[in-house]
Amino acid sequence: MASVKVAVRVRPFSQRELDMGAKLIIQIKGKKTGILNCKANARDENIRYKEFTFDYSYWSHDSQSQDFASQEQVYQDLGTEVVECAFEGYNACVFAYGQTGSGKTFTMMGSPDNQGLIPRICKALFERMSEDSKKGTTHRVHVSYLEIYQERVADLLRGRSSSLRVREHPKKGPYVEGLTTCLVTNYGHIQECMNRGNSHRTTAATNMNDVSSRSHAIFTITFVQAGYCNGFPSETVSKIHLVDLAGSERADSTGATGERLKEGAHINKSLVTLGSVISGLAEISSEANGHRKSLFVPYRDSVLTWLLKDSLGGNSKTIMIAAISPADCNYGETLSTLRYANRAK
Ligand code: ADP
Ligand code: MG
Repeated sequence: MASVKVAVRVRPFSQRELDMGAKLIIQIKGKKTGILNCKANARDENIRYKEFTFDYSYWSHDSQSQDFASQEQVYQDLGTEVVECAFEGYNACVFAYGQTGSGKTFTMMGSPDNQGLIPRICKALFERMSEDSKKGTTHRVHVSYLEIYQERVADLLRGRSSSLRVREHPKKGPYVEGLTTCLVTNYGHIQECMNRGNSHRTTAATNMNDVSSRSHAIFTITFVQAGYCNGFPSETVSKIHLVDLAGSERADSTGATGERLKEGAHINKSLVTLGSVISGLAEISSEANGHRKSLFVPYRDSVLTWLLKDSLGGNSKTIMIAAISPADCNYGETLSTLRYANRAK
């Protein structure tokens, strides 16, 4: 049974927002996130204030608040489930969605002294593996790290130069031809891969007017457990995809021309397709025992969803984290992110 969880996370004010005297327009109450439209007519409450309910609403804006969520909290709520899922032999996808500067990379990668979901998941995976190996199970872990920019795939473990082809294997499904996969045997090793890929993302970002905010990055962990089932050797393969999506503001290409327009159109298409795919899955999972509507899921409409096809739906776990700014100057983008996240649940 497909399972979808949606979380919202508000980052603290940026220095820029503080300097311009930005106002706080987000409210968090338990699972609810509310947004205030300062410009609207105060008498019409439905226009002035909108509220959405998610599986989690996280507050990073004020560390004194009781709703404050540290990196560890987010990992405990969402990351441990991903690890659990992998050990049970299922696939999982975690997506960070939101405008540029809203906290996607902070949530997924974090910083060396305040690690995000990806390093915490990797660490837990290796810790649990060493416990399980005492019971006679052996494990193999492979990682790959790729970027999708303008519907083309680049290998972040090798550098950005090459563009790779996506193909579909009749049994194994979609894959990227020639993509580097590294066999990793400990956490330090996986961390090296992570750092190498991250440096390829950021190096190019400074050279090419921040391509990183206009591309999707997918860190994939392939996890193989080998043991014995009823006396016969057996292998279970699970995949974890951890995805830092392109900034959602690019999807709105109003006024853009040429390359920017094409770029915006590609991003828009993949984010819209992802949204449709996830809301399709949420619909399936909410239809308890009853008859299922046959839903057409448009995986092939974007490289992003095509590549993740086998990890979306079925018994896979899907987690969407919508990152938002607390400030009034981002009202439009924040409302659109909340609507997107609301549609996904
Ligand atoms: P994005 O990847 O969405 O463009 P970043 O993750 O780079 O955004 O975040 C932008 C800035 O805000 C960074 O300096 C980051 O450290 C900070 N930031 C984002 N989210 C948080 C948070 N939850 N707590 C503290 N700082 C955050
Ligand atoms: Mg980022």
